[in-house]
Amino acid sequence: MTDKEKHIIHMDQDAFFVSVELRKNPDLIGKPIIVGGNADRGVVTSCSYEARKFGVHAAMPGRMAKQLCPQAIFVRGSMDEYSKASQEITEIIVNRVPLFEKASIDEHYIDMTGMDKFFGCMKFASELRQTIIKETGLPISFGLSVNKTVAKIGTNECKPNGQKEVPFPEVRPFLNPLAIHKIPGIGNATYKKLSEMGVRKIQTLAEIPQDLMFKILGQHGLGLWQKANGIDLSPVVPYRERKSIGTQTTFESDSMDISSMKAILSGMVTNLTYELRSQQKLTACITVTIRYSNFETVTQQARIPYTALDSFLIAKAHDLFKRLYTKRMLLRLIGVKLSHLVNGYEQIGLYHTSEEEYDLYQAMDKVRDHYGVESVVKACIVKRPERDKNGKVIKYNPRKIKGEEHKTEEERKRSRIRTFINSDLGTATKLD
Ligand SMILES: [Mg+2]
Repeated sequence: MTDKEKHIIHMDQDAFFVSVELRKNPDLIGKPIIVGGNADRGVVTSCSYEARKFGVHAAMPGRMAKQLCPQAIFVRGSMDEYSKASQEITEIIVNRVPLFEKASIDEHYIDMTGMDKFFGCMKFASELRQTIIKETGLPISFGLSVNKTVAKIGTNECKPNGQKEVPFPEVRPFLNPLAIHKIPGIGNATYKKLSEMGVRKIQTLAEIPQDLMFKILGQHGLGLWQKANGIDLSPVVPYRERKSIGTQTTFESDSMDISSMKAILSGMVTNLTYELRSQQKLTACITVTIRYSNFETVTQQARIPYTALDSFLIAKAHDLFKRLYTKRMLLRLIGVKLSHLVNGYEQIGLYHTSEEEYDLYQAMDKVRDHYGVESVVKACIVKRPERDKNGKVIKYNPRKIKGEEHKTEEERKRSRIRTFINSDLGTATKLD
């Protein structure tokens, strides 16, 4: 199917976290509000349009925001509330459209292709937008066009409180005059490189020969060139089919040792959250499965605020395990799965997480990126060091594992996620 016949809506809440705060406390409406961080430390997570006028933007240090806008009101924020509000919006959409993708905590793509014969897509989308505003009290904007990229650029151009249709014949004229940084996913380095070459408008980028773009920026360059030309073949991925990540451990001999079960669970969650963070994803649902020695298998799951943090998920996993493990019987398998994944970064300060803890995760992830996933682990899941026949501790070099010399760094990292976790207690298998 060509783009010409496709109808994709991109819906995005306006200043989502701030809007949830305003709904709770209407006295704040019209004021410069900053969520996350504070005047001394931390980072701006979201800010009201009144604060943006002063140059404040997300990811800016709180201290700088305070300098730019001294009258700004800092709100601590709660990821729990934002996740619930996100759920309210998704529930309205799920009841009205057959095919949608939840792209982040406050963004949805809807594929209306084929439906346009029954509804006018623009009419449908603006009614849906009004319903969301009425039922949730939260402002939202949307773009409607022939693919995800153009729809998203459309949304960004009409924000806040706007809606914009870019039909097929208008795609190029719409994109041409825009600055190249309006293309979603263009990184800082790429943006700099292109600006240095004098490429500032999307039109200029679109007119560069395709093979030259490939020479300069490789595959990424080709992708950008396509987007600049209004081409995007990526499908709307149904929310429920979005991949989950999981891992399970089968014990070599059935076990009833609760403290090592909990340690194994912690280890599994730690590996999964590391993978989540490296894919820049957040989860909103955790599932724990246990299998008794008689093969009886039981599962419990819990909806949680969007997160990618170890401590919160480990506590949840232990809690679910406690609820599951009701029989005094040996266990042969234990598994954890994280699902309802959306794109996003962990927001510092919106949990009961301290900045120190967040820094710790970042530092740990960096070490893992270089030396492998098991190079840093929580003390509770470390097994006793292996010793040689003279009783000397065998030094472990994660870069040199027998039989793995020929593997690429990426393969080595992946295989370790699968096989690590107290290998003397059991074998971990990665699930998709
Ligand atoms: Mg938004």
